[in-house]
Amino acid sequence: MADNAAESTNNKHRDVLESTQRVVQSALQKLGYPEEVYELLKEPVRLMTVRIPVRMDDGSTKIFTGYRAQHNDAVGPTKGGVRFHPEVSENEVKALSIWMSLKAGIVDLPYGGGKGGIICDPREMSFRELEGVSRGYVRAISQIVGPTKDIPAPDVMTNSQIMAWMMDEYSRMDEFNNPGFITGKPIVLGGSHGRETATAKGVTICLKEAAKKRDISIEGARVVIQGFGNAGSYLAKFMHEAGAKVIGISDAYGALHDPDGLDIDYLLDRRDSFGTVTNLFKSTISNQELLELDCDILVPAAVENQITKDNAHNIKAQIVIEAANGPTTFEATKILTERGILIVPDVLASAGGVTVSYFEWVQNNQGFYWTEQEVEERLEKVMLKGFQNVYQTAQTRRVDMRLAAYMVGVRKMAEASRFRGWI
Ligand code: GLU
Repeated sequence: MADNAAESTNNKHRDVLESTQRVVQSALQKLGYPEEVYELLKEPVRLMTVRIPVRMDDGSTKIFTGYRAQHNDAVGPTKGGVRFHPEVSENEVKALSIWMSLKAGIVDLPYGGGKGGIICDPREMSFRELEGVSRGYVRAISQIVGPTKDIPAPDVMTNSQIMAWMMDEYSRMDEFNNPGFITGKPIVLGGSHGRETATAKGVTICLKEAAKKRDISIEGARVVIQGFGNAGSYLAKFMHEAGAKVIGISDAYGALHDPDGLDIDYLLDRRDSFGTVTNLFKSTISNQELLELDCDILVPAAVENQITKDNAHNIKAQIVIEAANGPTTFEATKILTERGILIVPDVLASAGGVTVSYFEWVQNNQGFYWTEQEVEERLEKVMLKGFQNVYQTAQTRRVDMRLAAYMVGVRKMAEASRFRGWI
């Protein structure tokens, strides 16, 4: 990406970071912490920018830019995914690392938040080129990551193959096999059962709890899902299996709508590895139209800034479950809450992925592996507890669900920083 394009993406993401910082500040104020706690937690403690030279298939060398942000390591090592996307930016990675800290706090994992990203478009790269970028990134950030420092994982447009290359590169540098360096690996390399579906499973657990609060039965509920990647596609499958009617789905290029319910099995079968499927259809609608469809439950499972002050008044769902990171802006959260729509915020709803990543890391450290059923039972317990904590905090403190989630998420980190004598 040209430098000025990268700068404009970074400016675009400034709002995302600032909105996050505002909610962190309000959460700390509500909890009675002094301003210096916010001064520490408003930015990552560490941010590394790297330049990664990669030999491309045509013989040329291309230089990619990558980042790794570590938000706060008072509780334990930092943890979070690495995304490959043309619109990765420094501000985005910073915000994403703060969200990872909040997720870890909400589901009570012994981690702080981290996040990484590389500015690239994997849809336009070959297998070998992707391997080059993945290995180059690990070499570049090797000083600050590791199983007891900062543990990467998959995120937007990265998968278990990419995790395998990254683990192999790290293990080669370390000169011994080190599966606990990264999570989301293939099972044969120390991955965990249930990691692939974990984010969608976590969203499903939250969705069922939220539906109970609003007296909506899952059987026959009309569900719209924006995004058909790892989270969105598995969620469509689980909702379909539970008897809900998935009436809308989308990918980066468009959306599909059928008020009688889409043929989910067919769509799952035809999607490509990046979740693209709408290109096979003639009559599509836009992503904006999808969000405003008449439905009971709306699940943004794609990218940031989708529900804004411009369309929040037109959302017809009774419940919005955020499977993506940051899909609803600060202003839109206010509008939806005032309209009585129940929001299950990203830092809670999407915490299933990092929860099973934690299980994977524990299994790697112990060298003792769990069954799929053990993973799922533990995930369910953790998510239910997180949901109940956030919901109760919202009720008893009379705050919206996002602020409640931030209050639950930030507390442990603030306490740990205080005990360590940092503030
Ligand atoms: N990238 C995922 C997230 O945003 C998972 C992170 C992890 O497994 O560490 O929560």
